[in-house]
Amino acid sequence: MAVDPRYAPLFSPLRIGPVEAPNRFYQVPHCSGMGHALPATLAAMRGMKAAGGWGVVCTEYCSIHPSSDDQPYPFASNWDDGDATNLAAIADAIHAHGALAGIELWHGGSYVANLASRLPTLGVRSIPAHGDPVQSQRMDRADIRRLRAWHRAAALRARAAGFDVVYVYPTHGYLVAEFLSRALNDRTDEYGGSLVNRARLFTELLQDTKEAVGDRCAVAVRFSVNGHGEEHLDAAEAHDLIGTLGDQPDLWDFVIDDYEEEMGSSRFVKESALEARVRAARALTRRPIVSVGRFTSPDTMLRLVREGTLDLIGAARPSIADPFLPAKIREGRLEDLRECIGCNVCYAHNSRGAALRCTQNPTIGEEWRRGWHPERVTPGRGTALIVGAGPAGLEAAQVLGKRGFEVTLAEAGDTAGGRVARESRLPGLAEWARVRDYRLGQIARMGNVQICYESPIGAAELQEFDADWVLIATGARWRRDGIGRHHSSPIPDLAGMVLTPDDVMDGYVPAGRVLVFDDDHYYMGPTVALALARRGEPVAYLTTAGRAGEWSEYTAEQARTQRALIEAGVEILTSQVVAGFDGARARLACVYTGRERTLPTDALVLVTSREPVDGLWREVSRDADDDSGRILRIGDCRQPSIIAAAVYAGHQAARELGETASLALRDRVLIA
Ligand code: ADP
Ligand code: SF4
Repeated sequence: MAVDPRYAPLFSPLRIGPVEAPNRFYQVPHCSGMGHALPATLAAMRGMKAAGGWGVVCTEYCSIHPSSDDQPYPFASNWDDGDATNLAAIADAIHAHGALAGIELWHGGSYVANLASRLPTLGVRSIPAHGDPVQSQRMDRADIRRLRAWHRAAALRARAAGFDVVYVYPTHGYLVAEFLSRALNDRTDEYGGSLVNRARLFTELLQDTKEAVGDRCAVAVRFSVNGHGEEHLDAAEAHDLIGTLGDQPDLWDFVIDDYEEEMGSSRFVKESALEARVRAARALTRRPIVSVGRFTSPDTMLRLVREGTLDLIGAARPSIADPFLPAKIREGRLEDLRECIGCNVCYAHNSRGAALRCTQNPTIGEEWRRGWHPERVTPGRGTALIVGAGPAGLEAAQVLGKRGFEVTLAEAGDTAGGRVARESRLPGLAEWARVRDYRLGQIARMGNVQICYESPIGAAELQEFDADWVLIATGARWRRDGIGRHHSSPIPDLAGMVLTPDDVMDGYVPAGRVLVFDDDHYYMGPTVALALARRGEPVAYLTTAGRAGEWSEYTAEQARTQRALIEAGVEILTSQVVAGFDGARARLACVYTGRERTLPTDALVLVTSREPVDGLWREVSRDADDDSGRILRIGDCRQPSIIAAAVYAGHQAARELGETASLALRDRVLIA
């Protein structure tokens, strides 16, 4: 199909050293939670990006040696020929669609703990590991020689496996960045002291890699344009280094020092946040530049390429949310773009050591295991009634619509979106409405899907409707009794103004001193506290955890969450529980000692857990043995969870209706 002329500059090929990218869409290295553990899942996932038009598709960071072992995260590895066989499967899957395959060679240095390999970790000096009571071994000259040999061997294996772009990675605090650091590098030899000396290991690795594979592979450098923080490598030094190396790499992949900003969630960071800093470094090199910015707007992409800020549009999350984003832009199908909402649930799963999943794209990670394609479904026939137009119901409706079913989506309220419509009104969550808007946009163009608003469905209506299939997607509501992680039974003394997040989202604004009790530990407690802080009256946030929104550590939001509360003047109380409330005072107890005190409070908001709205299901299912009959329940009414899980449940149910589902339980192990 011809390229939409508006976006033609995004589809011109670009030479990168000895190779040529077919277009300007570049999937930068991003973690997958698959790595060495799920090779077939990983190869299929990367291959799907190439099928969707990404011109370059890279691996996540790929360890070059067992002395860089990131257990319990399933990182990629390139330690031996067995790994190379798995890596070749990735490169093949990418090449099958005409894209270039990139690999990010990586040594974690002191950051890792080598929990699996049990080898000593290596550092520029002895430095504590991230998260484990382990310190690295100070590297001597022989270690540096060995490291260079490992890196070179890994580059050669990468070339043999078919990769076209090979990275040197002196950033994000890993081994080579340790050497660059003024604060960490206390060496007195030629690898310490001046910037030239501290950069020696980096420049040697760059040279080694070019000599080893530069004839056939582009050598890329992922580097922070604003340095690594004042005490380590300041912005002026970073510019110095980029300027000095200038055209030596075939490609610069520019990032920034603050990972929480670089891959910031939409709560705190908006599209194209790195732009000014990348532009400031642009003149330092003539080589192609790629950088990220959670780009989902084709016009932003076009502007950045036209004005010369970027040569390649880098993306991790937008390529997860929509592997076919480039193809859709090429064809001018902008209404079909499935935009990333910036929730970082993808990253959270890697952080938990699990394969990534996505709120917007339920098929990610299921390309191999379930054989799901993000854009294709199997045709089917029949009538379906879906009850509830939240994320689960909307996703089910659009998938069944694409399959050719006659679908009626009945919603009790006067708008669609369920929880995303409500939550997107909270501070920072506006982009979450994209979950609703993408699906409504798809449904609007289908003649076979009808949405009926203000249509509460009871058992009688359901029977009367007589559809072939019924999907109940009636959601969940926040509990008003305090049951959650801490309290297994209702809080006994609750009187006065007791609210839930649903009340706040419905627009109820309490007066006076508010206490938000967060036993949920994710975004809802802090976000409700921030919303209430806007009243200009005192808000206290109390959590049973040790930090505000503790789980959002996995989405790289915890520090910013805590900072936002502090800056909004919210008092933060940790490791405490609400034991009672009499309408004027909350009784608080220490989670360790049980010691109690009181806090003057006019209104209490309970963010503890949610109760499935499953009355309809229980009435009509007649206690079915399983969920595989004509009537199914999906999403939060079955299992309250994150939005991604509701979308997934809707997708799975709709895809498998009337079909025999396939599920491969284990990856093929490709290692010979
Ligand atoms: P999920 O995340 O599982 O999609 P949500 O709570 O976001 O669940 O959405 C559930 C939707 O179902 C809400 O929009 C709600 O108004 C609607 N709903 C709940 N009960 C009924 C019912 N009996 N009939 C029609 N719609 C309902
Ligand atoms: Fe974007 Fe969220 Fe999907 Fe990650 S999980 S790609 S942040 S929508």
